Amino acid sequence: MRRPLDLPLLRREVNNRRITAVRRRGKYLLLDTEPAGSLLVHLGMSGRMLLAEAHTPRLPHTHLVLRLESGPELRLVDPRRFGFAQWLNPGDEATDPSLSTLGMEPLAPDTKNELPPLLHARKSPIKTLLLDQRLVAGVGNIYAVESLWRAGIRPSRQGARIAMTRLDRLVREVQEVLCEAIEQGGTTIRDFSAPGGNFGYFAVRLQAYGRAGAPCSRCATELREARIGGRSTPFCPQCQR
Ligand SMILES: [Zn+2]
Repeated sequence: MRRPLDLPLLRREVNNRRITAVRRRGKYLLLDTEPAGSLLVHLGMSGRMLLAEAHTPRLPHTHLVLRLESGPELRLVDPRRFGFAQWLNPGDEATDPSLSTLGMEPLAPDTKNELPPLLHARKSPIKTLLLDQRLVAGVGNIYAVESLWRAGIRPSRQGARIAMTRLDRLVREVQEVLCEAIEQGGTTIRDFSAPGGNFGYFAVRLQAYGRAGAPCSRCATELREARIGGRSTPFCPQCQR
């Protein structure tokens, strides 16, 4: 995987603990345990965690299996192996290089007030800023593209050159698009699935992502595609300014 799994260490640390909470921070999952500690999981591009009955066959690319006392197994499956899992002792969360540099949570109550001025203070393209995990954690490429389309903002525009009222609106759109995606159970682009194995249905509502060359559903102009920060960035040349 992206970081090699230390299976002997995981076996030693995770064994006989109780999972007391499941949290998300940015794009990371944290399974908190008692006695205190956490299993940190990143699903990468294609990873998923499946709850499966122990007798059911394991899918190819099952990298980690947690046998639960209640019967089923929690399995980490990741065909493309961009994800990882590692053990965190209490206190590690504050010092772990992946977690300690993460910016604000997009759905936290203060974000709608605190994020727009941070975006306004930067000269990078707004799309790059939305993807910068040190500013705001957990907004992926799809959601950045969609929220910029919804807010009518050109992805290449510098943060500093966007009026604060428009940045306020953008942050609201980021929050809405994330909430909708969570409600729908994720984004079906290729092989994502929800923890239970059910596929999400958010893809049907994507208005910009994956639609370069198709007509804008707001103004019928053909959507174009830019590459910003190395990532594909569809946008409407007419209604995103
Ligand atoms: Zn348009």
